[in-house]
Amino acid sequence: MLPIGEAQQKVLEEIPVLGRERLFILEALGRVLAQDVEAVRDVPSADNSAMDGYSVKYSDIVGANSSNPVRLKIIGESPAGKPYPGLLEQGQAVRIMTGGLIPKGADTVIMLEDTEREGDFVICLNDPGARAHVRFKAEYVRTGESVFRRGDVIRPPEVGMLATLGHAYVYVYQRPVVAILSTGDELVDLDEPFSEGKVICSNTYSLAAQVLDCGAIPLSLGIASDNIDDLRSRLRDGLRADVILTSGGVSVGKYDLVKDTLTEVGMKVKFWKVAMKPGKPLVFGTIGAKPVFGLPGNPTSAMISFEQFVRPALLKMMGRKHLFRPLMEAQLAEDVKISSGRLHLVRCKLFEKDGVKFAVSTGTQSSASLRSMVMADGLMILPAEKAPFRAGDKVRVQFLHTDIPLRSESHY
Ligand code: AMP
Ligand code: MG
Repeated sequence: MLPIGEAQQKVLEEIPVLGRERLFILEALGRVLAQDVEAVRDVPSADNSAMDGYSVKYSDIVGANSSNPVRLKIIGESPAGKPYPGLLEQGQAVRIMTGGLIPKGADTVIMLEDTEREGDFVICLNDPGARAHVRFKAEYVRTGESVFRRGDVIRPPEVGMLATLGHAYVYVYQRPVVAILSTGDELVDLDEPFSEGKVICSNTYSLAAQVLDCGAIPLSLGIASDNIDDLRSRLRDGLRADVILTSGGVSVGKYDLVKDTLTEVGMKVKFWKVAMKPGKPLVFGTIGAKPVFGLPGNPTSAMISFEQFVRPALLKMMGRKHLFRPLMEAQLAEDVKISSGRLHLVRCKLFEKDGVKFAVSTGTQSSASLRSMVMADGLMILPAEKAPFRAGDKVRVQFLHTDIPLRSESHY
């Protein structure tokens, strides 16, 4: 059985980065830049004021203070968007607003709070220093400067910066279409009649939700019954996708036909079975360059296997550099028993008490129930060889989402 780290490595080695597409910057939110971005203009494009006040010649107000006030003649104003057209001479001031352009001849802004007004004159009561409160042309970004690199993730600040630079469209990496096939004679879909003994096919939905959560595109292939013809025809249908996910039918039961059928439609098996609990009977292979994941059928095993193998793969396809969830160290709040020689991924809740971060098992760890996933903030990573795990031991916890209830109170 392959250790989980090696299995992850083998998966990522096979994963291609997709091609690029051109998108409107808002549509590109959450995507990864597939181009470098150089500034096509200066930001700011001209010297302007960071304050409300008066634009002046610094030489006029050097050393000004309340016992040595300087009186300047107000010759006009420069609000944002309506520059003062004239030239400022010695002894003069132009009233200026935040974002207003610095008039020709001026070099410094004195804040309104440091002045008093007397009719057409302003009395300057402070020396703010040469060039004070001026945002200079190209101070933030200079034309030709590299602002973004291929591989940068587009978050809200990047959207704003792209807009600032005048880019409406950018190249980003494409999103993979991920075909999802559920398998099992016992499964019924949501719109089918349910009867005792049947199981609602939840994996199609939990896996599709995980695919969406990664930013990729799910494509349901429905439910295949446990026979080769149905499996084969649905898998062939899935070949149009960039990635194929199946769930169920990859164990050693009599009707576990998925692995063999995948091989029949052209999959080269890279590995089968990983030393992890839950999630042992995972098969991974490729059809051409197309990655194929045969996930175990138990709902929790399928989701946790997705987290460990499929999520990093999809992120890599979409050009991401950081492929893994954040990890934190926490103290065990209780003993944790583990029941096999494999690496255990124990669903846990996280909480903080007196500044110490604790992890506690969600209790039930049955891989057949999604209960433990619903309750979990993360997965404790417990290698069997380090057992026993006792209250107070430090363990590593992989986040499962970002809504972790540590310090959920306001920070202020
Ligand atoms: P299998 O690997 O096919 O033996 O499935 C293992 C367990 O997972 C069985 O109890 C199945 O009923 C269950 N299971 C398989 N596929 C799904 C699915 N799509 N939705 C919910 N449960 C499933
Ligand atoms: Mg089955």
